[in-house]
Amino acid sequence: MDKDCLFCRIVAGDIPATVVHETDTTLAFRDIDPKAPVHVLVIPKDHHADVVALAAADPRVAADVLAAAAAVAEAEGLLPGGFRLMFNSGRDAGQEVFHVHAHVLGGRPLGPMLALS
Ligand code: AMP
Ligand code: ZN
Repeated sequence: MDKDCLFCRIVAGDIPATVVHETDTTLAFRDIDPKAPVHVLVIPKDHHADVVALAAADPRVAADVLAAAAAVAEAEGLLPGGFRLMFNSGRDAGQEVFHVHAHVLGGRPLGPMLALS
């Protein structure tokens, strides 16, 4: 645990979150500023800065994050319509929280993959 990391503090229960799914190795909770009707963040409980660090350090937990994201998508009713699964990594992607997280987005047509600007 990194005591200065927002998502480690959510895992520790120091900061509240609306948890929708939990396993031994992962936690999923609603994004505080949702960009779609369903916007859930799926994280490993252990601290890894981004998806590159997680894949290198613990590929088994990387797989757990994917399985948890799929379970969230199903539980949120997104499978018929589809959904987007997104990892921002680093500056050009605009990553803001440096504890790896998958965004599960859905509940309406999501438009083009990238804003054209
Ligand atoms: P990213 O830009 O990929 O690093 O995404 C960080 C996400 O974390 C953003 O979508 C924020 O709205 C979300 N976020 C920030 N603080 C919290 C919080 N306390 N609880 C839930 N989501 C948060
Ligand atoms: Zn962390």
